Amino acid sequence: MHGTETHDGERPLERMAEEGLRFARRMYLPRMLGLGVGTLAVGGGLWEAQAPLWAWLLLALNGFVWPHVAYRIARASRDPYRGELHNLMFDSACGGAWVAAIGFNLVPSAVLLSMLAMDKAAVGGVRFLARCLNAQIATAALVALIDGFWLHLDSGFVAVVASLPLLFAYPATVGYTAYRLARRVRQQNDVLATLSTIDGLTRLMNRTHWEQAVATEFQRCRRIGHSSAVLMLDVDHFKAVNDAHGHQVGDEALRAVAAILRDTLRLHDIAGRYGGEEFGVVLPGIEASGAAAIAERIRKKIESSVVEPRRGVRVTASIGYAALGLDDHDPGAWIARADRALYAAKAAGRNRAMGHEIGVRA
Ligand code: GH3
Ligand code: MG
Ligand code: MG
Repeated sequence: MHGTETHDGERPLERMAEEGLRFARRMYLPRMLGLGVGTLAVGGGLWEAQAPLWAWLLLALNGFVWPHVAYRIARASRDPYRGELHNLMFDSACGGAWVAAIGFNLVPSAVLLSMLAMDKAAVGGVRFLARCLNAQIATAALVALIDGFWLHLDSGFVAVVASLPLLFAYPATVGYTAYRLARRVRQQNDVLATLSTIDGLTRLMNRTHWEQAVATEFQRCRRIGHSSAVLMLDVDHFKAVNDAHGHQVGDEALRAVAAILRDTLRLHDIAGRYGGEEFGVVLPGIEASGAAAIAERIRKKIESSVVEPRRGVRVTASIGYAALGLDDHDPGAWIARADRALYAAKAAGRNRAMGHEIGVRA
C-alpha cells in the first residue's frame, strides 16, 4: 500500500530503538520526581540513624545524579528499551540497599518499597516486578551484612514527615502516566477504526463500509418511504492504462477518479471503492431521473479530465444506476441491479451511463 511506504521501508530494529527511546524519555521525568521525593524519605531514615556524611553523599548521587545518568545510558544503549528496564531494576536494587542502610526504619521503608513495587508492576508486569524484588532483596541483604545487620524499626516524627511527599506525590504521578497512556490507546483505537473503514488508495469508504452504508440507506428508505438511488461506476479499459503506463500511473488515475467523484457529489452522497477500478455511490433522496443526471455529470467530468498529468492519461467510465424499487428485497439486490445496468453500459460501447428501470419506487 502506498500510504505506508515509509513504514514498510523502516527496518524493524530501528523502529524498536525508536520505541525504546520514547520509553526512556517517558521514564525520565517520573524518575527524577520519584527519586527526588524518595531521597527525602530515605533522608529521614538516615537522619534518625545518624548516618555518616558519606552515606548522605551517596544518597545525593543516587537521588539527583543517577536519573540523568540513567537517561544517558538508555539513550546510548543499542536497545534502549532493555537499557531502560535495566535502569529500573537498578532503581529497585538501590531501594533495597537504602532500606537496609536506614536499619529498615518502618515508615520510610514501607513507603519506598511499595512505591518501587507499584511502578515496576505498572511498567513491566508481574514477572518484571518479581525480578526487581529479587534484586531488591539481594542488595538489602548485602548492605545489611556489610553494615552488621542493625535495626531501627521505630519511625520517629522526622522519618514519618519526610516520607509523606513520596507517599502523596508518586502515586499521583504514576496514576497520571497510566491515564495518559490509556487516553493515547483510546485515540489510537479511534484512528484504527477510521482506517479500517477507509480505502487507503482513494480515501473513499472501503467496500465493506460502503455496503453497510447502502444497507443503512435501504432501511431508511423502507422506513420513511423516500426515494434513493445507487450508482456503480467502472473505469473503461483500465487494464490498458496499467499496461501502457505502469501500475503507479494507474493508481494516480484511480485517485483522480475518486477526487472527481468527491467533487461532483453532494455532501450527503456516499461514495466508496467497490473493487479495483470500480466505485459505488449512494444518492439519498434521488429518483431515477436525478440519478441519470448525476451519472451523466460524473461521466462527462471524467471524460474531460486528465487523470494523470505527467503522462497526460485520460480515461472514460461506464456507469449503471438503479433507483430503489419495491422489488428490491435487500440491499444486495439493489446494488446488483445497478451493476446489471453497468454491464449493459459496457456492452453498449462503454463511456455511457445507463439505468436499470424495472421496479416501482418504494
Ligand atoms: P472494462 O472496460 O471491461 O472494465 O476493461 P478493464 O480493463 O477496465 O477491466 P478489467 O477488469 O479487465 O481490468 C481491470 C484492471 O484494473 C485490471 C487491474 O490490473 C486494474 N486494477 C485493479 N485495481 C487496481 C489498482 O488498485 N491500481 C491499479 N493501478 N490498477 C488496478
Ligand atoms: Mg474496467
Ligand atoms: Mg472492473
